[in-house]
Amino acid sequence: MSETSTKKNDSLRVQDASALWHPFTQMAEYARETPAPPIITGAEGNWLIANDGQKYLDANCGYWCLALGCRPDAVERAVKDQLDRFAHSTLLGISHEPAIRLAARLVELAGDPFKHVFFADSGSEAVEAALKMVYQFHVHGGQPERSDFLALGDSYHGDTLGAVSVGGVDLFHAAFKPLLFPTRRVAPPRCYRCAWRGEHACGEDAAAAMENALAEHAKTLAAVVIEPFVLGPGGVLQQPKGYLERVIRAARQHNVPVIFDEVAVGMGRLGTLFAFEQLADGLRPDVLCLAKGLTGGVLPLSAVMTTSKVYERFLGTIEQRRTFFHGHTFTGSALGCAAALAALDTLSDAKFQKELRETKIPALWKMLGKLCDLPHVGDVRGRGMMAAFEVVKDTSTREDYPWHLRYGHRVVLAARKRNVNLRAIGDLVLCVPPLTITLEEIELLGRVYRESIAEATGEKA
Ligand SMILES: *Cc1c(COP(=O)(O)O)cnc(C)c1O
Repeated sequence: MSETSTKKNDSLRVQDASALWHPFTQMAEYARETPAPPIITGAEGNWLIANDGQKYLDANCGYWCLALGCRPDAVERAVKDQLDRFAHSTLLGISHEPAIRLAARLVELAGDPFKHVFFADSGSEAVEAALKMVYQFHVHGGQPERSDFLALGDSYHGDTLGAVSVGGVDLFHAAFKPLLFPTRRVAPPRCYRCAWRGEHACGEDAAAAMENALAEHAKTLAAVVIEPFVLGPGGVLQQPKGYLERVIRAARQHNVPVIFDEVAVGMGRLGTLFAFEQLADGLRPDVLCLAKGLTGGVLPLSAVMTTSKVYERFLGTIEQRRTFFHGHTFTGSALGCAAALAALDTLSDAKFQKELRETKIPALWKMLGKLCDLPHVGDVRGRGMMAAFEVVKDTSTREDYPWHLRYGHRVVLAARKRNVNLRAIGDLVLCVPPLTITLEEIELLGRVYRESIAEATGEKA
């Protein structure tokens, strides 16, 4: 490296630790981490390139959003083409072509009963819009008392205050308690560390508890909010077969709308474009939140989809004040919509999905399955291309390491030395790769996990 580029890199490093406040990051620790965390200046394929020339397989795919890898060619081209036309125009009172096309495309792809699309800029804002939408729906229906939400413990729906109110991850949310509206919460199925009777009964107990909560509080519930199939950031907790169907049926029975937060699990992550496609008997939620992979992760954009029943309750004269008074300056960003249209071409492609389901997902789980033999891997869990494993002190008693010793992060640092970018939540090490990951890269990832766990826990690989 030349002297000038070394100087430039040193000054980037200094400014990174001084001017830039990173999200969900203890900056005091970050600033003294050695070797210093990579500074990304480029990318190709599924790999990030740092300013010192090191390359990293991005097994966290830009935090679960770069579904098509770091440089999805067709998406980037669509953004450039859109830039040649215009970058931004509002959807307040006038319209624009990319938003119209994307709304129509999403309606076509989602099928019944999703007929209408409301755009926002992030997953949190999609959830926020969904909460306000269903509440206003009840207000127009003459039931303003229906203002409570039923949600799952350990769920994560974003960081704005409404999304935090329905979230249930204590570590992230406890500090803000006085600012939040109260939410009814039921513990989710959680097989490895069960809040219920034990591993095999947890689905049964957890579903029954949701049915009871719905029956008991139906009259005051605005909606039930759920991350379907897998609670992502709250611990990659998968739901047993039949659980969601029971919750949806109970909600239907008591006339409570169901909001699916597919921000993490949608857009191909579980092997189908929408996670709801995997529900039995054609069951569907009433409101659907999409974000993360929607643009292939290239630009921030989110969407809330809903039914004609919800939408039509907002129709009326100006005097009736049924307008949905919600939106952001950049709602339905033209560049984001153009990116999403291009990303959907690939994500909805039958061949792409078939390869994902029949080759990549099985290969990923085969690789992860082998990690179970390691002395400190307590649990490997998840679904589709969203997985994680817990590093524990003792697998027979499931005893954790003292959390402040950051064993999960030690695995991350050991993997970084081996040119793989990972993320851990506590001692849960994540495996959420781009859907474009190759079989060779899955194999490499498996090798790096083994070596990194061994290094972090001081055992043989
Ligand atoms: C990431 C995430 C969100 C929040 O999305 P942002 O774009 O980060 O605001 C909400 N719900 C789930 C399930 C998520 O994984």
